[in-house]
This record gives sequence, structure tokens and C-alpha cells, in this order.
Amino acid sequence: MASSEDIQALKSLVAEPKLLDVRLAQLDPVPLLLVYTHLSGDEDLLQRCRPYIKGAWSFEVEVPQDLQAELRAKVITTLKDYAQTARALPPAPDVATLQRMCDAAVGQHVPSEYMPMVLEELNFDGTDAKSVRWRKPVSQVTLDRYHVLVIGLGYSGLAMAIKLKEAGIPFTVIEKNDDVGGTWYENTYPGVAVDTPNHFYSYSFRTESNWDHYFAQGPEIIKYIRNVYREANLGEHVRFEEEVVSAVWDKHAALWNVRIRRNDGSEYPMAVTAVVSGSGLLNRPSIPDIPGMKDFKGPMFHSARWDHSVDLTGKRVVQVGTGASGMQIGPAIAPKVGKLTIFQRSPHWARKNPLLFAEVTDGVKWGLANIPYYTKWYRFQLLYATSDGVLPSLRKDPNWPEPETSLNAANKEIREMLVAHMRNELGGDEELLAKVTPSFPPYGKRMLRDGNWFRTLTRDNVELVTSTVQKFTPTGAVDQEGVEHPADVVILATGFKAQAPLFPIEIVGTNGSIRDHWGDDNPRAYLGVTVPEFPNFYILYGPNTNGGHGGSAVFNSECQVRYTMLALRELIEREAASMDVREEPFEQYNRLVDAEHAQLVWTHPGVKNWYRNKDGRVVTNSPWRLCHYRNLTANFDPAEYDFEPAKVTA
Ligand SMILES: Cc1cc2nc3c(=O)[nH]c(=O)nc-3n(C[C@H](O)[C@H](O)[C@H](O)COP(=O)(O)OP(=O)(O)OC[C@H]3O[C@@H](n4cnc5c(N)ncnc54)[C@H](O)[C@@H]3O)c2cc1C
Repeated sequence: MASSEDIQALKSLVAEPKLLDVRLAQLDPVPLLLVYTHLSGDEDLLQRCRPYIKGAWSFEVEVPQDLQAELRAKVITTLKDYAQTARALPPAPDVATLQRMCDAAVGQHVPSEYMPMVLEELNFDGTDAKSVRWRKPVSQVTLDRYHVLVIGLGYSGLAMAIKLKEAGIPFTVIEKNDDVGGTWYENTYPGVAVDTPNHFYSYSFRTESNWDHYFAQGPEIIKYIRNVYREANLGEHVRFEEEVVSAVWDKHAALWNVRIRRNDGSEYPMAVTAVVSGSGLLNRPSIPDIPGMKDFKGPMFHSARWDHSVDLTGKRVVQVGTGASGMQIGPAIAPKVGKLTIFQRSPHWARKNPLLFAEVTDGVKWGLANIPYYTKWYRFQLLYATSDGVLPSLRKDPNWPEPETSLNAANKEIREMLVAHMRNELGGDEELLAKVTPSFPPYGKRMLRDGNWFRTLTRDNVELVTSTVQKFTPTGAVDQEGVEHPADVVILATGFKAQAPLFPIEIVGTNGSIRDHWGDDNPRAYLGVTVPEFPNFYILYGPNTNGGHGGSAVFNSECQVRYTMLALRELIEREAASMDVREEPFEQYNRLVDAEHAQLVWTHPGVKNWYRNKDGRVVTNSPWRLCHYRNLTANFDPAEYDFEPAKVTA
């Protein structure tokens, strides 16, 4: 029996079938088809529609109108039936049915190992399957012996704080900014937006049906994060405008001695049992050291430190960098500046997505909010569309005859499609096409979304310089040919210190600092989370966890948060003082990461970017499919850790 609220909602939904039909006609047919199959158990339409579903994106679907009309009629009948019989919505489909539904949803076979992940990602029963629950009663006295410090309140730190609160574990969050949001708080440059659709790039335990865009701009994302923060009611646990400066492990007390700096420069200590870093991979701007920078007379700022007091109207602007941020900034500012000179060190691949600037219509928002399970099935489609569907094309084929420019047949096909797109956008300007075509295979750098980047390059007031900046003068930037490009303003879209996670925090474990272990650019961790000789220390969005082939950093963070919660549960239920990951699993895991990367595009000789350190090792990206990383982090094996018992005090 459904709750009276649910029955009422269903009754009002079907009260006017004609209106409902009009509304359903505005929705994507595939999530609707999955809803119908799920609620009715009837797979006939699923099989009949399947040949028309070529991919997971809505624009890859061509279900004929008559089938769509039949689908809508059946959805209405089914919803009416639920309302009249006051039946509760069904639980998740059994695994065999789920498999058939997933295959149809994305127009290809989804490997069976995805099914557990899909079930927990979609949370059909309304509970968060990733939440970690105590296996035995743990007293408040025991809990009070533990105190966790979370560094940072971006997407990762916020998820961690929510889960710690849920479990009743004492914790404090220290955030250097004056607000929540991390990346989305700090990056306010014109055009800032996600390149992962937000119906997936959001917490699985707090989905949102009201997104205005499929690919939200910064302010919309920060609004969502602020809402989640407010609902979580973390007030007393969070200290804004304070920065963690150092954390030193005290072996005898089994505590981290942390130093925290307030905004006014004063510092204070805090002793905690465990530290979870949510300090972000892309948080500390990487500012290049270019001769003459200090001599430049006009404003010069990094994309993540945008100076909104500078009016760019009519100005001569030099933009350094054409990565993810640069590709969003250029098209956003080109129409208003006098001249935009873009310095490109190496080009990027970028894909068109018809939904990039599209607004979510009120009709679709209504469907997401009101049609049972519609949001969930839509989320699955996006999850697959933006990530693992593409990974096989990033694997090197040892017998491939054109290894310089592509990896395998599918990768070549993508390359040709991308080149054709660029040619079209550049209006056939072959000289410009040669400048913007990467020599390395597609996905060697993160695949970007073409938000009018190529068209922007064809504007009369835009010049692309395929060189790095040799030096700055008081009035401009000089390229490697010695040509000076006059500038009133310089924008550094030069990325972040991604190869030095935790920078500049001084973290000292049982045997030296994290920099002693990692050097400048070789961070390694077990599952991206724990490091031997750093007991009770956990990293979110750590080494080798960035989704290079796509996916959502939020998904990965949720995996790491769960793993950390499993670890803390083990620590606390044992009433142990500390836990330290053993060398063997750590080394073995990193060997596997490196071996997997050797097969993938990011170790292609032509690929040089922030994913690889100076020795060529890929240190930022995860080589794993989402489901594999989920499986690795969904269980905690205590045998992989050394536990120190708590000291008995008299
Ligand atoms: C412009 C841009 C666009 C992006 N788009 C996407 C996308 O479309 N899809 C995707 O998957 N990923 C994207 N990313 C990656 C993005 O960083 C992650 O998706 C996600 O926001 C990371 O969240 P986080 O909480 O791990 O880190 P962050 O958001 O970086 O948050 C870290 C927080 O820690 C705080 N902090 C750091 N050091 C300290 C300290 N010592 N003491 C106290 N506080 C500290 C920071 O102030 C910050 O609030 C994008 C990144 C950028 C820069």
C-alpha cells in the first residue's frame, strides 16, 4: 500500500488525462519508456523501441511518433491503475530486468558488473545505499573519543560532513573561503559552467529536478550546493575563513596536531583523531613563471581569481591558455572586448553537444519532479553517456596502423567526426584548422565541450597565437617569434597545481612529510584515498581519481566518502587508536593503476599535459571505469591496514 501522500499525488497526476498526455509529450521518450517498463513490468514496448535508441543522449533517439503516442497512453493507464488500487511503487527491478532496461536505455549492452552500481546510484527505495551503518551498537562515550577534521567545503568536503553527521561521529570542517562550494565558489569567470550534465553531476543522495540548464553555469551550481549545505544544517561544525596550515601526526598520542590560520593571520592548534582532506585537486591556481610578468602595467589575473572590477569592454585582452576554463572564457568575452589574443600552447579536442546551452523547459522540469522514477532513469542515461560508454575507444590497439593520431578504429572515427566538426565551424579555413587540430588522439586531454570556441576563433577581433608567451612587457605579451601583442588586460587560464594535491598544507606522518613521500609531482595513494605512514588520514579527490574519460567528480567523491566512512567505522567499532594502510596493497594498487594507464590514451607519447608528471607517469587520472572504482571502494578490507589498539588509561 502506498502512502496517502503518494496516492494523492498520483490521483492528481491522472485527474486530467488529456493534460497529462500533453505534458508527457514534452518529455524524453526513453526515460519515460523505462518508467513505464518499471511500473508495469511489461517489456513489449521496450523491445519495440530499442532499435530506435542509438545512444544514451536524447538527441541520439528517434522513436517514431506512433510508438511515442502508444507509450504515453500506456503510461497514463499505468499511473491511473496505481492511483486507483493505491499500490505502492515497485521496488528496483530484478537484476535480469534491470540489465535489459539499461541496455535499451543507452542503445548498447551495459556490462553486467554495472548492475550493483546502477541500483545504488538510483536508490529506488529512497534510502541512500551508499550510507555506512554501524554493525553493532557504538556508545556515545566511544564516539566522543574520536574527532574528525574535514579540510574544505566543496562538493567532496560537504558530502563527507553530511555522512559524518549522519553517523554521529564528532567532526569539524575548516574552510578557507567565506562560503561553501569550492570550485564553484572560486571560479566566477564569464562563461564558467559544467561540462558534465548536472542531472548526473550532483549528489546521488540529493538529486535535483529543477535545474534550469542541462549544463549549468557557475551560479546555478553554487545555488544547488548552498541548498544542500543549508538542508544539512551543519552550522556548528563549520568554521569559515580559516585555513589548515599543517597537520603533524603524534605517534604517542595517536592524534593529528593541526594548525589553523584565521583570516586575520592568527593561528590556533586543534588535536584530532583523523583528518579527511577535501581540499580539492583543482583548487590552487598554477601561475606560470614568465619573464616580465611583474612589469606588465595592466590588470593580470588567473581565471579562478577573476577581477570583476575590470571592465573588458573595448579592451585589448591577452588570454593565456586554451584548456577547459580558457575554452569557456574566450567565447564569453570575445563579443565585448576590442581585441582578444589567445595564446595556445597545444590544442584541445572539443565536442559539440546540442544540449550545452539549452534550457530545461518547464515541461521537462515538471516531468522530472512528478513522474515517478523519471529522474532516476534519466540520471542513469547521463551517467553512461558521459563516461564509461567511451572508455573502450581510449584503449591502445597494439596492431593499429596509425598510432600517432588515433588508438583504434573507434578512436579514429571519433577523430574524424571531431575534425569534420571543426572544419565546419571554422568555415573551411584550413590554415586555422591545422592550428587547432591536436596531433594526439581524441581524449588525450579531457574532451571539452565546444561552446562556440571554434566559431569564436573566426571572429575579426580574435587572433590565435600557437605559441607560449616568451615574455611580458609593460604593454603586452611577446610570442616565441618575438612578436609583441599589445594588451590592456591579461587573463591567465593556466590551470591548477593538480600534480601536488594537498599543496600547500604541510602534512607530516610517521616518517616524514607528504612531500618527502611524493616529491613535487608524484602523488600516490591506495584507491586515491590512503597513504602508508599517514595513519587516520584520508584524501578525497586524491591521486589518480580524476575522471579523464568523463564521468562526474561528484560520483568519484561519493565513492571516496563511502570508503572513508567504512574505514572510520572499522576504526571506531574496534575502538582502535589508529589505522595505517599497509605498503603491500598500496604498492600493488599503484602497480595496477600504472599498468592500466600503459594501455590507455594518457600515456600516448604525443600527450603532454597536467595529467602526467615530469617522468611521464599519469598522476591525476583514474584509469578505471566508474563501476570498477565503485566496486573497489564499496568494501573495506581490514587486512589491508595495521591497527594500533587504543592505550588503556588507568
Ligand atoms: C572551472 C571548472 C569546471 C569544472 N567542471 C567540472 C565538470 O563539469 N565535471 C566534473 O566532474 N568536474 C569538474 N571540475 C572539477 C571540480 O573541481 C570537481 O568537480 C569538484 O567541484 C571538486 O570538489 P572538491 O570538493 O573535491 O574540491 P574543490 O571544489 O576544489 O573544493 C576544495 C575546498 O577546499 C578548500 N580548501 C583547500 N585548501 C584548504 C585549506 N588548507 N584549509 C581550508 N580549506 C581549504 C577550498 O577553499 C575549497 O573550498 C571542474 C573544475 C573547474 C575548476
